Amino acid sequence: MSKSYLLSNLPSVDEVINHERVIDILENIPRRVIVERIRNTIDSYRRNILAMKDNELKNIKVETEAIVEEVLIGCKEFMKMNLIEVINGTGVVLHTNLGRSLLADELKDKIWSIASGYSTLEIDVETGKRGSRYSHVVELIRFVTGAEDAMVVNNNAAAVMLVLGTMGKDKEVVVSRGELVEIGGAFRIPDVMEQSGVKLVDVGTTNKTHLWDYENAIGENTAALMKVHTSNYKILGFTEEISLKDMVSLGKRKNIPVIEDLGSGVLVDLKKYGITYEPTVQDSVEAGADIITFSGDKLLGGPQAGIIIGKKQYIDRMKKNPLTRAFRVDKLTMAALEATLRCYLKEDYAIKTIPTLKMITEGTNTIMDRAEKLKAMIEKMKLPIELDIEDDFSQIGGGALPLEKLPTKVLKIKALTISTAQLEESLRYYEKPIFTRIHEDIIIIDLRTIKERDFYAICDGLKKGIELNS
Ligand SMILES: *Cc1c(COP(=O)(O)O)cnc(C)c1O
Repeated sequence: MSKSYLLSNLPSVDEVINHERVIDILENIPRRVIVERIRNTIDSYRRNILAMKDNELKNIKVETEAIVEEVLIGCKEFMKMNLIEVINGTGVVLHTNLGRSLLADELKDKIWSIASGYSTLEIDVETGKRGSRYSHVVELIRFVTGAEDAMVVNNNAAAVMLVLGTMGKDKEVVVSRGELVEIGGAFRIPDVMEQSGVKLVDVGTTNKTHLWDYENAIGENTAALMKVHTSNYKILGFTEEISLKDMVSLGKRKNIPVIEDLGSGVLVDLKKYGITYEPTVQDSVEAGADIITFSGDKLLGGPQAGIIIGKKQYIDRMKKNPLTRAFRVDKLTMAALEATLRCYLKEDYAIKTIPTLKMITEGTNTIMDRAEKLKAMIEKMKLPIELDIEDDFSQIGGGALPLEKLPTKVLKIKALTISTAQLEESLRYYEKPIFTRIHEDIIIIDLRTIKERDFYAICDGLKKGIELNS
């Protein structure tokens, strides 16, 4: 069979669109989507044929039926939502690639009413005049953290840029060399400084920075001292860093403000729940930092946001910076943030309700209950697999408490008729994708990050995965 013969056998777009199975879907799928799909499919056949060596041509068949089938599958795929809910069996609680913090079910109505209706977003109900979109959370943030004033932007990266761009533009900001953090993506403290028009003055060494390092670096052009929480790594061994409190007294003495990028921004003392101490926002306020920034969707457990708190005089200046408009948050974020912050008015309610805190503080007994329940459900299906519950460790993730290992229970699944890689892939391809870990050629599902409402999907995903590959 020659290339030209195969190419001449390719159907025309018209032939495919008039195929009865394609006519059937015209009612539900826009014609433009179908035509585009047909063109792409025929094109990819053509490119494949042209790229083949003569002896490979016998491997390809040009059949209109097969092309129609491919078009139908492609059209259905195109019409589905790309951004969909998945099941996180990895045990990484703040999984940035899977959406970081989950919002509490309890917030659903509050957020949806703002999304689908007009709201008080920027209006003062008493006067009928324009209000501030920050007003809804400022008092709450002040109440919970003890700070003087607050504002909210898109994420903590934006918060840091806004703070530096407002307080340090064309001036110098002093940071320890041990805190020149890279957060991920292209967010590196030295680059952010440069972008904000700030001259970085890095002091000390990677492992040790002394108070006199900061003091010696202060000059007439110094705009601020900055502390960056090394949230995603730890320097261990022969180390010294200056406490925020000491930096604040130096700043006071020299009349220079102190900025802290706190990263995760936890609002409860995790030590009480058996987890390593992570500096709380309240501690930083109490230590006297002039400006503190942190994320809304790390350990705070709310929506993606960057929260800036501190002295009113600086926050007022930030509000006048044009970047504030560029970084401004949407009403959905505001609704979710206010509702999440309200949970913190009672700490035990916050721990019970905010999914991030609930998952992090959950004990192995309740995780074990879920593991046993899921195991029993899967066993009932009598699939060709071996199941085991074992002790393991979950991670907090999201660049928070990188060394913390939370004891957990995992379900280990070994398929007997298909490979572990095949099963892992089919679980990922399941209609509600299931993300697992592979360890020593066994699938591992960590029950810490699994909800009971996911059990049915996991069973169905396993069953289909094994059937499909067998
Ligand atoms: C995570 C983090 C950021 C970035 O926060 P986002 O909300 O992800 O933009 C900045 N600084 C520190 C120290 C962080 O840990």
